[in-house]
Amino acid sequence: MQDSPSQIREGLNYDGGKGGLVRVRVDFDLCTSNAVCMGIAPEIFEVRDDGFLYVLNENPGPEFDERLRQAVAGCPNGAISVEE
Ligand code: SF4
Repeated sequence: MQDSPSQIREGLNYDGGKGGLVRVRVDFDLCTSNAVCMGIAPEIFEVRDDGFLYVLNENPGPEFDERLRQAVAGCPNGAISVEE
């Protein structure tokens, strides 16, 4: 079962912190689904056949910090942000 893009957008509206975990946010108005981030961190980002980017893990652990930084830097549209 696939979530609709609107559900994903709602999923990015966090209502509270989870104690030290980062929060991944994607500005879907900027994202062009080119899958650069998926190439860097496929455990977190997935562009599906429907052409939309899905955030698989919105609160990844510290083991993903470096690749998250790379994804933020690598996104040509500046669509990804990470809150700590
Ligand atoms: S790298 Fe940026 S533009 Fe490309 S799919 Fe990821 S968030 Fe979207």
